[in-house]
Amino acid sequence: MNAEIIAVGSELLLGQIVNTNAKFISKCLAEIGVNVYHQTVVGDNNQRLKNSIEIAEKRADLIIFTGGLGPTKDDLTKETIAAHLGVKLVTDQEAMESIEAYFIKTKRVMTENNRKQALVLEGAKVFPNENGMAPGMFYISENHSYMLLPGPPHEMEPMFLQYGREAILETMDEPQKIESRVLRFFGIGEAHLETEIENLLLKQTNPTIAPLASEGEVTLRITAKHQSSIEALRLIEQVEKEILSQVGSYFYGYDDTSLMQELIKLLSSKKMTIACAESLTSGMFQAQMGNFAGVSSILKGGVVCYTNESKMKLVNVKRETLNQFGAVSKECAKELAENIMAQMDTDIGISFTGVAGPDPLEGNPAGTVWIGIARKNEDTKTYPLELASSRNGNRVRSVKFGCYYLIKALS
Ligand code: ATP
Ligand code: MG
Repeated sequence: MNAEIIAVGSELLLGQIVNTNAKFISKCLAEIGVNVYHQTVVGDNNQRLKNSIEIAEKRADLIIFTGGLGPTKDDLTKETIAAHLGVKLVTDQEAMESIEAYFIKTKRVMTENNRKQALVLEGAKVFPNENGMAPGMFYISENHSYMLLPGPPHEMEPMFLQYGREAILETMDEPQKIESRVLRFFGIGEAHLETEIENLLLKQTNPTIAPLASEGEVTLRITAKHQSSIEALRLIEQVEKEILSQVGSYFYGYDDTSLMQELIKLLSSKKMTIACAESLTSGMFQAQMGNFAGVSSILKGGVVCYTNESKMKLVNVKRETLNQFGAVSKECAKELAENIMAQMDTDIGISFTGVAGPDPLEGNPAGTVWIGIARKNEDTKTYPLELASSRNGNRVRSVKFGCYYLIKALS
């Protein structure tokens, strides 16, 4: 089966918004083995949309539209398709009730043109819109199928995942179930990871393995399809095992977790407490900890010690250490971590000192960072980093490395 995506909206042509809908749908279709050979963008114009449909029908079996399902005059996607196919638009009762309920819930007055949003192609399967008003729809004609989805990504994406994908799978010869799982890695670059598992990437068909890098992390999404969900999951597990046997030392968690979340899980299972002394991260590590409920039994507290003066006054770093080695040093990181642990009487002390950038400091280039990890009855460990991101990127990555090294040290 091959598909074409037609994104409708003049804002797209004017460069006011990016066509993330096409990206999202293309990626989902690739995962279920539907080929996308063309993506089209067309403005809110009846005649040009009609032309685009005619062109798409010549080269695709499935045509997916996004945008132009709203209540205003420039929203003309379904009217154009209805006219083109010679199909009537009829009111969908469920959609109408859901629109009315939406107005009651948001205490807004419903105008007449909002009723237009409950109109659907006669004979289409209707997708409820759980995040907005305009329903989606799926219409199958003799030679083609047409899927209409709303423009706003926060409406379109969940609708596609919950209803659209399933509807497409049902039209395939052998209806398939899709399962997917994300593996998260840290401490390894995307290119390096891809090289390590090149053998698996080259032979992938089902499951597929899709790498993605962001903010110093790499994820692999494994997606499998099979008539049975259980079998699809088994396929995923098999590939996961192979991946982890090659790059398992960098793996830290599944799906939506984060390094901080994994660290907090670990600390709370070990009933350990922590205190932090932060220079370049200026509280970012502690602020991120604070995002998690129940962290009060783990994080006792800490300080932001940005200047040398505060490192001495707040965390008792020795003047000689700063004079001899500088603030961005193994020695300073070690003292910060040990002293904050002692002051706060915790099991762990962690410190961050370094050069966020963009300018160098004390002869150290931007991105030079030292992390110190002190633990009761253990030798203090220090970790040097040479980061190469923006000022904020360096700070974000420092926090991630802090979590990562602590996880490694504790597990
Ligand atoms: P509404 O009911 O909000 O009018 P609609 O289905 O009519 O929804 P549009 O009016 O075409 O959709 O677009 C509404 C908004 O959705 C746009 O302003 C834009 O923010 C977003 N949007 C539309 N199309 C895309 C796209 N292809 N990629 C990303 N965002 C989009
Ligand atoms: Mg609109």
